[in-house]
Amino acid sequence: MSQSGDSRSRIVVFAAHCLLNQNVKVQGLVDEHPAAVMPLLRLLFDRGAGIVQMPCPELRELGLGRPLGTDTREQYDTPSYRQTCARIAAELAAQISAFLAAGYRVPCVLGVEGSPSCSVVRAPVLGPEKQRVLRPGSGLFIEALDAELARAQLDVPLIGVPETREAGSLEEALGQIASLLEPRRRAPVGDKQRVPAGPGPAAEDVVTAPLGPEPEPDTHPGMAEAARPPPSEQSAARSRLGPELELREPRAHRVRVEAGQVISERPDHSTERVRMSDLQRVEIQTFRSMGIQPLWVLTGLGDAKVVLPMGLDGETELLVKLQQLPGFDDEALVEAVSSTADETFVCWQRP
Ligand code: SF4
Repeated sequence: MSQSGDSRSRIVVFAAHCLLNQNVKVQGLVDEHPAAVMPLLRLLFDRGAGIVQMPCPELRELGLGRPLGTDTREQYDTPSYRQTCARIAAELAAQISAFLAAGYRVPCVLGVEGSPSCSVVRAPVLGPEKQRVLRPGSGLFIEALDAELARAQLDVPLIGVPETREAGSLEEALGQIASLLEPRRRAPVGDKQRVPAGPGPAAEDVVTAPLGPEPEPDTHPGMAEAARPPPSEQSAARSRLGPELELREPRAHRVRVEAGQVISERPDHSTERVRMSDLQRVEIQTFRSMGIQPLWVLTGLGDAKVVLPMGLDGETELLVKLQQLPGFDDEALVEAVSSTADETFVCWQRP
């Protein structure tokens, strides 16, 4: 226990409801995780994060018996549903703000990639043939939450945990969450914070389900086509997010060494960097029990730090530079790569 007599971690992650309780999902959509996304929960608890389970907007609006329908943004996009999303988003932004004001860390908010409501960067929409396709973009609820966070000037990364393999890689999402749970500096102003779960499949035009000749826009009570806002209103809603929140095509996470700096270029186009000459420590953290890629953790001076999953593009070049550090421990590297446990291997430390 700390000196103050209180040992709380002061780390709180906000997670989409179904990540902790799959029972709220639409019938027919639960496959791999019957109760909860256990690898995610193991990671969060292991890292000392408390979890706030966000309300499920679809459950609140339409109940447990809602049918699958087209499972696209269009199916849910009504004024009433947008209002529900906005109300929940405002409550959550207030909670996040209260935690931050009280000195807690909120390392990320977790959505669900592939959901019409909770996607962060890969949302299902109706394609030209009225089929469901995944396109860059967020779901209706995350869009509302993003707008509230921006309005409140809250700088909290959004990460999508993929609900299926088509929507992305769970392992990569967990690696990114693990890296955000590391103590880290605040991102510089202007850094984008939206973090897609790795490259996954090509983001555009991923056909996920042939849905027959015609979609069924009115399978949900209150979800009739006529009730949807016109396209102009929809794009106005998006543009209210401001230019800094506009979506960009996700890219592969990669690392490069340039002008004496290690530069991590994240999928959301933000960067982390540390000077080779400032390096204090190089370690590898393994998470085999959770099936997560090991992480490189490069600590520089002050709060400079680069955290990245092993196996990224550019890693070979990085490794060559790291191995030139006097006393770099190749054995620790080999042990880390073959580790079957959750451990930390120090490969180099400034004397
Ligand atoms: S993805 Fe979002 S809307 Fe869908 S079941 Fe989960 S919490 Fe509810």
